[in-house]
Amino acid sequence: MREHHGIKESEYWHHRALQVIPGGVSSPVRAFAAVGGTPRYFVRGVGSRVFDIDGNEYIDLIGSWGPMILGHAHPEVVRKVTESAALSSSFGAPSPNEVLLAEEIIRRVRCVEKVRFVSSGTEAVMTAVRLARAATGRNIIVKFAGCYHGHSDALLVQAGSGVVTLGLPNSPGVTQGQTQDTVVLPYNDVDAVVAFFAERGHEIAAVLTEAVPANMGVVPPKDGFNALLSRLCHDSNALLILDEVMTGFRVSSGGWWHLVHETEQWTPDLFTYGKVIGGGYPVAAVAGSAKVMDLLAPLGSVYQAGTLSGNPVATAAGLTTLQLCDDSLYDRLNQRAKEVSSVISSALNREGVAHQLQSAGNLFSFFFTDSPVFSFTDATKQDTEAFSAFFRAMLDNGVSLPPSAFEAWFVSGAHTDADIEQIAAAAAIAAKAAAATGKTL
Ligand SMILES: *Cc1c(COP(=O)(O)O)cnc(C)c1O
Repeated sequence: MREHHGIKESEYWHHRALQVIPGGVSSPVRAFAAVGGTPRYFVRGVGSRVFDIDGNEYIDLIGSWGPMILGHAHPEVVRKVTESAALSSSFGAPSPNEVLLAEEIIRRVRCVEKVRFVSSGTEAVMTAVRLARAATGRNIIVKFAGCYHGHSDALLVQAGSGVVTLGLPNSPGVTQGQTQDTVVLPYNDVDAVVAFFAERGHEIAAVLTEAVPANMGVVPPKDGFNALLSRLCHDSNALLILDEVMTGFRVSSGGWWHLVHETEQWTPDLFTYGKVIGGGYPVAAVAGSAKVMDLLAPLGSVYQAGTLSGNPVATAAGLTTLQLCDDSLYDRLNQRAKEVSSVISSALNREGVAHQLQSAGNLFSFFFTDSPVFSFTDATKQDTEAFSAFFRAMLDNGVSLPPSAFEAWFVSGAHTDADIEQIAAAAAIAAKAAAATGKTL
């Protein structure tokens, strides 16, 4: 086990950050509010490893929440980004990289015909919602409790991710007017969805769902759930927006839909992408059929814009990343995900710590509870104290996990056999720490 020499520098930087940045962080889940302790200040990453400013080394299982699918500072990505940056960081005018990236996405996802780039997943979903309302002339958006679709006003209702971690059911500053057309239903609840469509199907602009919810921990759709959503939308002339910001190009070469469409036979009307398609830079996208996408300005009247959208450096990073995401990479990710989850599960079992391993392709998470999780209500029943103890011990032993019991874990193509062994060794200690919080099988 590597030696840790303390976190004095991280504490110093966090102290400074707290004076000038609310909570010291640029995005809430990065604060250790839910797990306790001081966030590490990272200065370098290479492959599967990240290094804090104190000189400690960690195996990274956050991967920037998904984008670092190849590991940190992949030499080819660094080369393309550096070359592109030297040619100018931004033109505010068209450039070839965005065309190449759009073509790459379309090549991978058969039913996508057009792509519009934005800079964050939040914007991508905002745009998809606006498009759906314009295309249908209707107002209501159906979303599911525990699904996170970014922080736009209308969607910040029973959202997952940081909203859950920090125990904020909704957000002040969001008016009733902004959310009155958002209807939240329980995830995986067929009866609730069927009943709502029966009552108000003709008012629904779109159903918005994560392809696989992974912002309340990983909660796979029950068999047929997404297909049902697609059928109900189709029958009511509403659109299905599949949010693949997390799953897109991570769980397979084309994302979740690509992985399942041959067996499940359903197709969404719009997709949203982000995370992996930027390879660690701010790129996200809304994508779909030409018919719907061409409603966007300048062809159509649905307005949408962005100063840095399709940025040449960011799209170079995304394009290079996707080009390196070949079949052998996805095989490796699946294998690593299995290895990491099985060493963690074994360690927890040895100490009698109640847990559920839930996964969808190479995305997985652990719920510290003894019953399977199908919905947000189920997810909130877990023992977050046991998770926090587990998290802190993993960090002290050189493994950086998402600092929340409600987040997926991320493997990369750079994780090695040695990493798996080290994760197993850390988990043996962390499972004891979790067991010591009291609640066991
Ligand atoms: C991360 C995420 C978003 C928001 O993306 P940002 O780039 O953080 O704005 C939206 N939807 C899903 C499913 C996500 O995982």
